[in-house]
Amino acid sequence: MLDLNEHSHRRFNPLTGEWIIVSPHRTKRPWQGQTEEASRDTLPDYDPDCYLCPTNHRAGDKVNPAYTGVYVFDNDFAALRLDVPEGRQNIGDLIVAESERGLCRVVCFSPNHSLTLSRMKTGDIKSVIDEWANQYIELGGEAFINHVQIFENRGEMMGASNPHPHCQIWASESIPNEPAKELRSQNDYHDKRGRCLLCDYLKLEKAGGERIVCENEYFAALVPFWAVYPFEVMIVGREHHGSIDELSEQERMAFAEILKRVTTRYDNLFLTPFPYSMGFHQKPTDGGGHDSVHFHAHFYPPLLRSATVRKFLVGFEILGSPQRDITPESAAARLRNLSEIHYLDN
Ligand SMILES: [Zn+2]
Ligand SMILES: [Zn+2]
Ligand SMILES: [Zn+2]
Repeated sequence: MLDLNEHSHRRFNPLTGEWIIVSPHRTKRPWQGQTEEASRDTLPDYDPDCYLCPTNHRAGDKVNPAYTGVYVFDNDFAALRLDVPEGRQNIGDLIVAESERGLCRVVCFSPNHSLTLSRMKTGDIKSVIDEWANQYIELGGEAFINHVQIFENRGEMMGASNPHPHCQIWASESIPNEPAKELRSQNDYHDKRGRCLLCDYLKLEKAGGERIVCENEYFAALVPFWAVYPFEVMIVGREHHGSIDELSEQERMAFAEILKRVTTRYDNLFLTPFPYSMGFHQKPTDGGGHDSVHFHAHFYPPLLRSATVRKFLVGFEILGSPQRDITPESAAARLRNLSEIHYLDN
């Protein structure tokens, strides 16, 4: 009898249509309970050398205003631009390229350089959510913009060069690979069953409970059954909404609350500011209905066993399929058992 807690097996990701390998036998030992030295290095509220802090200089001759809440600006080093001539190239369907127009913005969550989502007030996170919704509407409303990707890279390990709390928005003409895969899967599921994939998935997870990390009235945070990263988390709403702007005032507060709780648990896991890439998947802004799409957030954190031991996707994982040892169920249990009082406040 196949036992998912004992035997190597593979799990299907219904959102991407891809498989991952799970090797639970390699982590038979219970958690070693390594004692972590809490990272108590705190940053100053204002850093004169930070290009995101209020009143500081950015690239060129730009200067940030003395902003007091959320602050948005066009990325000075945008990966995508609108002023690109339209064109394509196709040699035998093998050497194929096409123009890609887009806009890139930076959203500073707070003027306070030292904060993270986990350390912000819920009401202030709600203001960031309101701005994400505004940006989704504004950028998605541009004629050439068909997809708006909001994402946060947190920590040097994820290549974030600046600790100032901020995220990026890349709004593009085409739908990027990951949301395109998820769009196809959600459409297929909806066509076959007449229901939403993530609404159905959340019902199954709530019935089982073993992968739920925490929840509130409107959202659940869980380690997906098919998670690749050890402490990967997905936040899924109970109500079916296609995009962040559809969230009600109460849902936005609840979303702010669960973002704070998840990131606090993350920091408490290894007593360190937890690195991750986080972002949202939602409806493309190409004018289609996309009723099958269910707004959700992904957290992809690299840390595996401590504040310094990280997971690398290498070897078989690059050439074959991703693989993990610690099961999503045990990762969820560890996250679930953590305090929601930040270790720096303890
Ligand atoms: Zn700063
Ligand atoms: Zn749904
Ligand atoms: Zn997704």
